Amino acid sequence: MIVFRADRLIDGTGAPPLEGAAVLVEGERILDAGRAADIGMPQGAEVVEAPAGGTLMPGLVDAHVHLAYSGQADNRAFRAESTTLNYPAIALRAVRYARESLRHGYTSVRDMHAPGGTIIDLARAVAAGRVEGPRILAPGLGLTVTGGHMDQPGFADHMAFANMNGVCEGADGFRTGVRAQLKRGADFIKLNPCVSNRRDERLYRFEMTVEEIRAACDEAHEQGVMVAAHTSGGPPLLAAVEGGCDTVEHAHWADDATLDLMAERGTWLVPTLAVNEASTAHVRAQPDAPALTRRWAEESEAAKWPRLTRAKARGVRVAAGSDAGFFLRHGADNGREIELFVEGGYTPLEAIGIATASGADLMGIEAGRLTPGKLADILVVDGDPVGDITVLRDPNRLRVFKGGAEAASLPH
Ligand SMILES: [Zn+2]
Repeated sequence: MIVFRADRLIDGTGAPPLEGAAVLVEGERILDAGRAADIGMPQGAEVVEAPAGGTLMPGLVDAHVHLAYSGQADNRAFRAESTTLNYPAIALRAVRYARESLRHGYTSVRDMHAPGGTIIDLARAVAAGRVEGPRILAPGLGLTVTGGHMDQPGFADHMAFANMNGVCEGADGFRTGVRAQLKRGADFIKLNPCVSNRRDERLYRFEMTVEEIRAACDEAHEQGVMVAAHTSGGPPLLAAVEGGCDTVEHAHWADDATLDLMAERGTWLVPTLAVNEASTAHVRAQPDAPALTRRWAEESEAAKWPRLTRAKARGVRVAAGSDAGFFLRHGADNGREIELFVEGGYTPLEAIGIATASGADLMGIEAGRLTPGKLADILVVDGDPVGDITVLRDPNRLRVFKGGAEAASLPH
């Protein structure tokens, strides 16, 4: 049994911080949480005391990461990795990224696609206690049309990649794709129905047909798993929501009709603010970037803020997902997403709820709140994240407990 004590407790439910608090943990679950005076000190309990002025809060959840990727911003270097790294090498590298994420306070992450489906194997290894890392949900390969968002052209004709992405065609093809990923062990399905467009002046366009979106969602739901969709905006985004996608990622140009429908259906928005910021900065730093790329970057950066305001006004369910692995380092940069929610109009307490309780709800795991019965994913913070949200990005100010067990420090 462990008693965690601190000057302040943020329970993740959105309730105001509680002063002079304690959390009682037995095994991997929370037995009680509240005022230290009420919790008391059970005999023989181990005590974990936060530094003076410190805080207890739930472990963080990042609902959109790519543990298979390095955060490399240079596109040529990124492509080179595809040609030089075997899938087992990608998985072995991801072990380090998983530990970095955990050490920075992320006790759960949702991976969003990995060559060879390798992150499914990492998720199972973590769950079995063979390697240390956050709780992971993984979709295996993202499903995409030929030449689509995850099957990008640009490699030479003689380059062929086996099992790097899930290319499907037609409604039946997508049904088969869903079944293949579930056979491999996927926790959910990732689709690419609506993509950013850099071929002409349109900002987004359909890749999958409406029939393909519906078939994939129907099959996934029949098998009892959720569907996440890479989206940008407009009619293709509306079609993704209407077709049954449960979480929409990015969605820079979500219009009012789409946000209304999302609020009605309980569709999650994962706005990936941090990767937008990082990729726009990258494009701005490249004077020779193609004009369409520059325009898309500027317009998506501008659109993301009013979109967030309109989503908040409608009560659309929102979770924090950084897209770490693209333009962002695992661990060190995931927390930028929480800061951006605050810059985008959420209070620090709301942003913490989005990055804890909401993320856990999206992932369907019993964590994200410091309340009785939940998994004991707990951060002991040296500081007050409500007063200064940036303390969450300093691993030296965090002690991280997952399921009641403290994460080991990483070697430097
Ligand atoms: Zn992504």
